[in-house]
Amino acid sequence: MTAPRPRPEILTIDAYVAGQSKVQGVNRIIKLSSNEGAFGPAPAAQEAYRRVAAEIHRYPDGGSVALREALGKRFGLDPERIVCGTGSDELIQHLCHIYGGPGTDIIMSMHGFSMYQISGTYAGSRVLKAPERNLTTDVDAILAAVTPDTRIVFVANPNNPTGSLLPQSEMERLRAGLPPEVLLAIDAAYAEYVTEPGYDPGVKLVDAGENTVMLRTFSKVYALGGLRVGWCYAPASVTDVLNRVRGVFNVNLGAQAAAIAALEEQGWIDCAIAHNTEFRAKLSSFLESVGIKVWPSHGNFILADFGTPARAEAADAFLRGRGIIVRGMAAYDLPHCLRITIGNGEECALVADALGSFMAGQRHG
Ligand SMILES: *Cc1c(COP(=O)(O)O)cnc(C)c1O
Repeated sequence: MTAPRPRPEILTIDAYVAGQSKVQGVNRIIKLSSNEGAFGPAPAAQEAYRRVAAEIHRYPDGGSVALREALGKRFGLDPERIVCGTGSDELIQHLCHIYGGPGTDIIMSMHGFSMYQISGTYAGSRVLKAPERNLTTDVDAILAAVTPDTRIVFVANPNNPTGSLLPQSEMERLRAGLPPEVLLAIDAAYAEYVTEPGYDPGVKLVDAGENTVMLRTFSKVYALGGLRVGWCYAPASVTDVLNRVRGVFNVNLGAQAAAIAALEEQGWIDCAIAHNTEFRAKLSSFLESVGIKVWPSHGNFILADFGTPARAEAADAFLRGRGIIVRGMAAYDLPHCLRITIGNGEECALVADALGSFMAGQRHG
């Protein structure tokens, strides 16, 4: 063997399976596989992106200062305690490498976001998956999995792909039950879509101590997934180390400009949220009415449960035949489910119509 050899644990990582965007032989594709914003980016964000085109020979501001100030203003946070990243994925990866590594454990829940497993294993940590209860993070199961080797606990709240939400009291119980030296990373990628009273995306727990971080993204409601912008709000001790290791110019010029403009066009975001709340409920109750179980969701997607992997696969194939791409869930150990992003009104109607026909066929065939 003369080829360079990776560390053995690297070969245990299954590459992230992104939502697909093509179906052979179909021209018009309805892509509901990646939880991208239903209406696309705010016009002001598009305009800002175009405006910087003539300046892309310049390096971006490596500290994303203007963007952090805009975030601070929008969310009432100290910009010094914000770090921006090339998507929140970059920040997840850095946290794993900073606090994890060989001989350490990282805990996530059974059906948690798969980037925690990929990045944790990459860092050399053992990634433990705590059982869930009713497809919801189980605080007791996570606490039971803690050992002296535990360094990070990742909780997406709301969780992708299950859509479930832990109440603030449960998040507080989790934090209180963890050893203080264990980092709690609260991933609030879908925070904007939550309508539950009393929900806090993580700010309160970050502010309450030195050991909690909140991760956010521009990829969902801000509809800038293609530009890769995420951020975290964290204690100073954590922002200090993140700033030492992150890509020096991690958030590119166009991404910073578009993200700032997107924050300024709050009306666009409010419309997207109102649409999501309405159509998440409508699509869920329609699917239930034709006999598909839908798990309650607090994000911009729903988890449709077909009962068996065979039926979920058949539904997936049926949708593809109509040019509709949703997300198969085998990689999340939920092969009997499909995750469906809440699209615009027409897209929701098309997916409802298709699944209505599919279920009618199941009954008569
Ligand atoms: C989409 C998503 C992210 C965002 O990733 P980006 O790298 O910012 O695009 C993070 N966490 C969860 C749970 C997600 O679903």
